[in-house]
Amino acid sequence: MSTDIYELSEAARQGNWSPLLREAEKVPSKHWAEDANCAAEDTDTFLPFGDGPREDPEEVKEQLGSELVRPLNLCNSCPLPIAARCLVDSIRHDDEWGIRAGLLASERSALRATWKDRVDEKAVQGALRGATAPLTKNERKAVIERFVADPALDPAAVARGLGITHEYLLKLAWRERQRSKQRASLSADQEANAA
Ligand code: SF4
Repeated sequence: MSTDIYELSEAARQGNWSPLLREAEKVPSKHWAEDANCAAEDTDTFLPFGDGPREDPEEVKEQLGSELVRPLNLCNSCPLPIAARCLVDSIRHDDEWGIRAGLLASERSALRATWKDRVDEKAVQGALRGATAPLTKNERKAVIERFVADPALDPAAVARGLGITHEYLLKLAWRERQRSKQRASLSADQEANAA
């Protein structure tokens, strides 16, 4: 059986984004939506009233029933790389509303939360070398932690990778050192109490 978009999105929800991202990279970054199944559709078809990021997906499905059949069928028969690209772009842009890749807005909330928590080592390494790609909150945190731990890193490159000034990077590094000292002191207290 071939892979489908639900398998890819489920793997992503469990923290493994690589298969979904790889599939999404198979389509060009521009004009990919022209070949999508929904290209000529009314956008309202994919924005069912009653679905939203804070709704319960099972309740939405029960309430909307047959209204979901058409958009879900279109998504299910959309070429896999296009569906993957559609889903990844919606997650990257934190797009809360509408059906994407056969997932309701209410279903994508869990996926968006997992995305925000993820740490892509390649993205972290790139930022440390000065690459200016968008980073999640946790990736930014990891970049600052590595910067503090490794004096050989070039502050100008790291600041560029984070999209901040050199001065602001030094301020963040100072705060991270303070937090690190507090954590070390807390852990020493706990060990002393346990002894
Ligand atoms: S998967 Fe995305 S691009 Fe394809 S039909 Fe559904 S909403 Fe449109």
